[in-house]
Amino acid sequence: MLKDILIQQIKRAGPIDLYTYMTLCQTHPIYGYYTSKKSTDILGNTGDFVTAPEVSPLFGEMIALWVVERWEAFGKPDVLQLVELGPGQGVLMQDILYTLERLTLFTAKCRVNFVEINPSFQRLQKEKNQTLAEVVHHDCIRCLKGIKEPAIIIANEFFDALPVRQYVEQEGMWYQVGVGLSEGNDLRLFYLPQTMVPKSLEYQPDGDIILEYIGNHISHYNGAALIIDYGYWGGRGDSLQAVYQHKKVGVLDHPGQADLSVHVNFQNMACYFEAMRLQYNFRTQRQFLIDLGIQLRLELICRNTEAKKAKEFQTGVMRLIDPGEMGQLFKVLEVWKR
Ligand code: SAH
Repeated sequence: MLKDILIQQIKRAGPIDLYTYMTLCQTHPIYGYYTSKKSTDILGNTGDFVTAPEVSPLFGEMIALWVVERWEAFGKPDVLQLVELGPGQGVLMQDILYTLERLTLFTAKCRVNFVEINPSFQRLQKEKNQTLAEVVHHDCIRCLKGIKEPAIIIANEFFDALPVRQYVEQEGMWYQVGVGLSEGNDLRLFYLPQTMVPKSLEYQPDGDIILEYIGNHISHYNGAALIIDYGYWGGRGDSLQAVYQHKKVGVLDHPGQADLSVHVNFQNMACYFEAMRLQYNFRTQRQFLIDLGIQLRLELICRNTEAKKAKEFQTGVMRLIDPGEMGQLFKVLEVWKR
């Protein structure tokens, strides 16, 4: 078990920082949450959590409209590169491609690039999308360097899974949160002395590498990005949470078994893109979907569908836009070239 490996490692070499702990929990080659679990144990009705594309196909439909808008702004290239980071069961891209196929005004050929770490997800993503477009898998963002055309980059509930560094201030001193051992040799949180004053209470180093790729790609080859996740404008700090078998648990309780995630700091992301002189727009998921016309689309579907099916569509869309459900907590950051 990952917990035993961590305890042995800390015994041998001393405490590790939270970033290293979370990296091992998420992506340890044998025991990592995203590297070892079956897709159906992570996502969907049988898994740990349900994401927006799995709640309603109208989520992907609306994003397809956004894709068309951006594609028109690039000057309607014949080939459109679509990149999705952490595509899960591949449902979002399937809904996007399915919608694009039906929009006669959209005439480009799509090439789909998935960045995915989990082999069981990769299989599903391929199965769901290969009849709709050419699909290529990449192990990491660096492998996308070969794409030299305008690209649409989409990430839904991807950044929240990336490992985080956390800092705390106590009596004028700064510490980095780490993981060590208790007297009984169990994992426990530790404060590691920190010489520099951090810029924010939470920081995702891998996220920065990805933002850099996105920013560089859009600056050099044109394109646009759509980042959707739960999070805030500005950070809250201490947002790391763990969910195991649908219950909130301590972040050290089930390493590699529990779903670990953080609230994304959208202000940091926006500042990053602004410094690269890119244009961005930030809205709640509710506003984003309403602006794209999800309510009108729902009304049209309901007019032409039998009552039971119509109710299902209504429930799904309400879940996506209701402020008490996903509408307010989830935010959307769009990025494109000025
Ligand atoms: N976007 C999907 C799934 C979100 S779950 C949806 O909306 O349904 C997070 C996804 O990111 C999973 O597919 C997971 O396997 C993938 N993932 C997590 N960490 C990753 C990493 N470091 N590199 C590539 N993919 C990763």
